[in-house]
Amino acid sequence: MANQTFPGGISPGHFKDTKDKPIESLELPKKVYIPMEQHIGAPCTPTVEVGDYVKTGQKIGESDKFVSAPVHASISGEVVDIVQYNHPLGNTSQTVVIESDGQDEPDYQDEEQTVNLDSFSAEEIKNVVKEAGIVGLGGATFPTHVKISPPEDKPIDTVLINGAECEPFLTSDHRLMVEQAEKIIFGLRAIMKAVNCDRGIIAIEDNKPDAVEAMNSLVTDDDSLEVMTFETKYPQGAEKQLIKAALDREVPSGGLPMDVGCVVNNTGTALAVADALRTNKPILERVVTISGPGIEQSGNFMVRLGTLASDLIEQLGGMGDQTRKIIMGGPMMGISQPNADFPVIKGTSGVLLLTDQEVQIFEERPCINCGRCVDSCPISLLPNLLGTFMEHERPDKAEDFNALDCIECGCCTYICPARRPLVHYIRVAKGEIMAKRQNK
Ligand code: SF4
Ligand code: SF4
Repeated sequence: MANQTFPGGISPGHFKDTKDKPIESLELPKKVYIPMEQHIGAPCTPTVEVGDYVKTGQKIGESDKFVSAPVHASISGEVVDIVQYNHPLGNTSQTVVIESDGQDEPDYQDEEQTVNLDSFSAEEIKNVVKEAGIVGLGGATFPTHVKISPPEDKPIDTVLINGAECEPFLTSDHRLMVEQAEKIIFGLRAIMKAVNCDRGIIAIEDNKPDAVEAMNSLVTDDDSLEVMTFETKYPQGAEKQLIKAALDREVPSGGLPMDVGCVVNNTGTALAVADALRTNKPILERVVTISGPGIEQSGNFMVRLGTLASDLIEQLGGMGDQTRKIIMGGPMMGISQPNADFPVIKGTSGVLLLTDQEVQIFEERPCINCGRCVDSCPISLLPNLLGTFMEHERPDKAEDFNALDCIECGCCTYICPARRPLVHYIRVAKGEIMAKRQNK
């Protein structure tokens, strides 16, 4: 039987040359730039001042709002500045700058402890997750403690661990599943306990047989856990598409996975939950795929948050002269950067250095009404029309045609032979529709 999937989607090619490269550590950064906004929700306010000494893992920013996540020092040393600095999602953000003392003195337990989940209540797990600043590490950066605290009228029956990693180039989740399967399973069990459910699924695309094998080897004697493999197709890793493929449930328009009894977490997020429970270690580093023809030494690297991409690139042999585009994340949903002076944040799954060859495919021509964007849309929208509406500055029409349901997967833009920037038009439409609603 063919592996499961969802309607629509595209096959943009893999480009996953780094999939067999084990996760490597890099030199401790001499300086880190840690933004107070690394999550969806209220930004944090610094809890330190210039001149303070901080340990690795010490909390340096927090908010009293529920939808937020604290941020922590990723190295030990002195706070040398608190400034507005480049943010990879655009513009600038309040940023705590720490200069390393070279000691990397931890503010958490250095040694992993054997932890029995029976000794934690659901509330205690949620609290540990919150204090550790854990957010969706697939790139969405929604605070995990909020995600695992559904209201009472939304019971959860299934937790899915999203190991699809359908974006071309990115392989950080793949490597984590191969190298850290046990921790991911522990994190999954902890999340299942937090949401009071007894079914866990690890969802993996069928282009990662070694990850499937690694995860399968740990679930064979546990009936509550299952590894599912899915057809390799973009955007298999989008929450709604994953739920459709795994459980044949449709998340309603404007709804959330909890509306159909599900919680979806990324593999890195599950691993971070395990770390927080076993060592009290907050999110202070993550695996980043650094790839593309513009970088000499590509691979998967454990990177301290706040490290500048420019420092990473320098350590890895520098940026090739042919580099035309730098992207934070994958080529489909990632954010194009004006330069490499941006810090790695919790949502940085990759840093890509692309050359002319990859960039030229995005040059725009007039629509030829081929309909391919419509066929590729996993939400069954009409991207061609949405684009045309926005060319004529008609967000009201885009709203009538459900622009707000767009998951910004980029399939329509990718498949379009005229290279029309459809997802850009739709993002603009969504922004204008939301602004109009807020004004009302
Ligand atoms: S309209 Fe939105 S959801 Fe549909 S393919 Fe384009 S980006 Fe994806
Ligand atoms: S895929 Fe591009 S060219 Fe074809 S209908 Fe959609 S917008 Fe037009």
